[in-house]
Amino acid sequence: MIRISLSVVIALLFSTAVSAQDRDSEHATKTLEIYTHIIEMETAKNLGNVPAMARYLADEMIGAGLPQEDVEVLAVGETAALIARYRGDGSSGKAPILLLAHMDVVEARPEDWERPLDDTFFFARGTDDNKFGVAQLTSTFIRLKKEGFVPNRDLIIVFSGDEESSMASTEVLAYERPDLAEAEFALNSDAGGGSLSDDGKAVGYRIQTSEKTYATWELTAHNPGGHSSRPRLDNAIYDLANAISKIQAHKFPVRWSDTTIEYFEETGRQLGGELGETMLQFASDPENEAAAERLSSEGSYVGNTRTTCVVTMLRAGHAENALPQSATATINCRIFPGIPVADVLGSLKKAIGNEAIEFEEIWPPTVSPVSDLREDIRAAASEAVHVRYPGVRILGHMSSGGTDGMHFRNAGIPTWGMSGLFMNPDNNFAHGLNERVPIKAFYGALDHWSIIIKSLASD
Ligand SMILES: [Zn+2]
Repeated sequence: MIRISLSVVIALLFSTAVSAQDRDSEHATKTLEIYTHIIEMETAKNLGNVPAMARYLADEMIGAGLPQEDVEVLAVGETAALIARYRGDGSSGKAPILLLAHMDVVEARPEDWERPLDDTFFFARGTDDNKFGVAQLTSTFIRLKKEGFVPNRDLIIVFSGDEESSMASTEVLAYERPDLAEAEFALNSDAGGGSLSDDGKAVGYRIQTSEKTYATWELTAHNPGGHSSRPRLDNAIYDLANAISKIQAHKFPVRWSDTTIEYFEETGRQLGGELGETMLQFASDPENEAAAERLSSEGSYVGNTRTTCVVTMLRAGHAENALPQSATATINCRIFPGIPVADVLGSLKKAIGNEAIEFEEIWPPTVSPVSDLREDIRAAASEAVHVRYPGVRILGHMSSGGTDGMHFRNAGIPTWGMSGLFMNPDNNFAHGLNERVPIKAFYGALDHWSIIIKSLASD
């Protein structure tokens, strides 16, 4: 990993792609220093480097003036969490704001990567997900402290250490810390953000307000089996196949939230044509069944209209000349926010109508409500985004993957994903090979968090 990042970063520091002023400011230099340092600390699961990274970040903030007793590295199993409280004067009487990021990354094999040494991108695991957010938030605290900024309420950095795997540290932070539970809301650097078109124009900024619940079951049909020369009337594979056909035919009811209505309204307006028109019809009347059905026929949009469940894996039988003793299908569901998992399970069982089919939950799902987008939050995001990209639309967004936000929302803390990163979605390689962040986006985001913080925590 060191080979990936250092050489590229050094080459870039001396490139002409970034203006001298941006590059030389104390805040830019500090942010880049933290960013490169933490990217070089490989923090994938089982490497054991998260506690050291948390300690490094803690020391950086203490060095900038945060009292030692307000900065805590919390050991959670093999990993760690970081909590850093930036005290305000309390004059607003408002509860603290949590600022979220995660310090761990998905594993990467550097030898598989292609890294053109150009002056456009920072390439390395974590450049985007989520060390971009970690570095920008940490350096914002350092900058504000050095400026002598005193917020009118407390600000608390809350970094988890295993968001990409078990989220055990996230659960401790969200459910077991009374000092964090009193927060009014959380802002997550690991979600939301801006999109750029192919020619580098900003096309929108999304604030993540909600996440679909991820749930997976294995469905199994059992049978005594026997010799294949003597077929029985019942058969595990036939029983399972029947159940699968029922799932294929089953449609969950149409659902909507302020976020999805706004999403269809905006996307419909931009898209135009027959599909765009359908989106506008749905946005103005989500009970319009024809419109909902039309949108559900598109893979890109069905997830925003309802809960979906789909069969993703299959295994059955043990020999070509034996009757199957069991047949198992894996079914993965993305449940609309706020819908209890038990309701979805109940609908699936009812649709299948065969009590002999056994359901096994693969892991415990976390349900999280929608955090309705508040106007003050939207205004803070607009202020930060419009400095860079005047007039860009700020939209609520429901994501289908999971972030730390689901546990905080589940714990009753409204959470909005507001990354400072603007990039072309085609360049998003988070979790995959060749993860990268445009250098321009790194420097562009330097003021993002201080503008948001000042908007929400000063008079
Ligand atoms: Zn992430």
